[in-house]
Amino acid sequence: MSQFLAPDLRPEDEEIERSLRPRRLDDFVGQERIKEQLQIALDAAKARGEALDHVLLAGPPGLGKTTLAQIVREELGVGMRTVAGPALEKKDIAAILTAIEPRDVLFVDEIHRLNRAAEEILYPALEDFRLDIIFGQGAAARALTIDLPPFTLVGATTRSGLLTTPLRDRFGMTFRLGYYEPAQLGTIVRRSARILGVEIADDAADEISLRSRGTPRIANRILRRVRDVAEVRHAGVITTRVAREALELLEVDVEGLERIDRELLEAVAHKFGGGPVGLSTLAVALGEEQDTIEDVYEPYLLQLGFLQRTPRGRVITELGRAHVGATRTDGSLF
Ligand code: ADP
Repeated sequence: MSQFLAPDLRPEDEEIERSLRPRRLDDFVGQERIKEQLQIALDAAKARGEALDHVLLAGPPGLGKTTLAQIVREELGVGMRTVAGPALEKKDIAAILTAIEPRDVLFVDEIHRLNRAAEEILYPALEDFRLDIIFGQGAAARALTIDLPPFTLVGATTRSGLLTTPLRDRFGMTFRLGYYEPAQLGTIVRRSARILGVEIADDAADEISLRSRGTPRIANRILRRVRDVAEVRHAGVITTRVAREALELLEVDVEGLERIDRELLEAVAHKFGGGPVGLSTLAVALGEEQDTIEDVYEPYLLQLGFLQRTPRGRVITELGRAHVGATRTDGSLF
């Protein structure tokens, strides 16, 4: 598993990650078009005293979906319930929705993994703010309708393509978060360093940004590990030399790839002759879940142009081969 994208396991890490989250839209770096549209929608909803339209946030992990959901809540000045899609049962949704306050936010992470029954009870709730509950079975079945206060569903997904059409259609706004530019990550790293109280040279922040796969969560996590190295081995100041030393120690290469990314490229290049290789075969070879490969590792490798998805499977590109230093299937060197 990626050491920089895995969920936080220790409560103190979660605490630090929370402290680094921007709380207002103005502090949220990048994603300018999303911010602009969201700001207008928020201002309009606030002015009318109405609930904000339902919002779907799509994009790879660590790009700021949860952060945006919390900003929405903060900007609206309302309460928020956070739940994970896969764990959500029909009865949980009913319990949450009957307790919801007007204009509150319900944040459902990994919404593409909602089970069918849970999803279906959401349809009338999202469209008409109504909960339809059936008691009993067959001829004895009774329907009960409960009116709900208007609320906002914020759904987050790494795989918007897996959302059913009826669910997707119920979102008034859909925003796709893209990878960040190094300059934007630089701003995030400098801001985080300030919050963590660590001194960092400008070019060291740039170095970290270049190796963070366009992902704020990775930038922040690398910064924390680099800070450890600066404190333990040096005078606590993050210079470029310290940053490079730490990145080497962490096995993060110049493209920001971790060991697991390189293993994936190497497997396609060497074990499977450059591809095409099916996802399930690749998953077995790497000892990783298929979903993790598709949601976490592949998007950036595709973005870099190191890997391609074809109908017959994954194929490594010349660029990808050059990066892992693989020889071509005909044995020649590039
Ligand atoms: P996701 O929900 O998409 O997986 P998160 O919202 O949890 O991602 O973001 C991960 C971390 O990255 C957060 O702790 C936050 O500090 C940081 N982050 C994400 N987006 C931004 C941003 N645009 N500006 C500043 N920090 C950000």
